[in-house]
Amino acid sequence: MSQDVYILREHIDSGEMHLFLASKTKEDECYAKQKSICGKMDADDASKTIFSCQPENSARKQCAKVGKQVCSKCISYLYDNGIDLK
Ligand SMILES: [Zn+2]
Repeated sequence: MSQDVYILREHIDSGEMHLFLASKTKEDECYAKQKSICGKMDADDASKTIFSCQPENSARKQCAKVGKQVCSKCISYLYDNGIDLK
């Protein structure tokens, strides 16, 4: 059974971080979608992975730690659009 997990990547050029949705495949593996949640970043763009394959709760915590570098559109998805971060 697949489970939605999240990957946070830092775009090398812009320094922005974007979340990618991914499907968990095995215990320590997941398969990311081609585009970030906001659609601004592509999986093929040069990037540094901040964390990978994290479930929602853990992804929220780690994004909160990273702070405002994380794209606000991607973050709002993580919170089900229920919280206005501005
Ligand atoms: Zn984004």
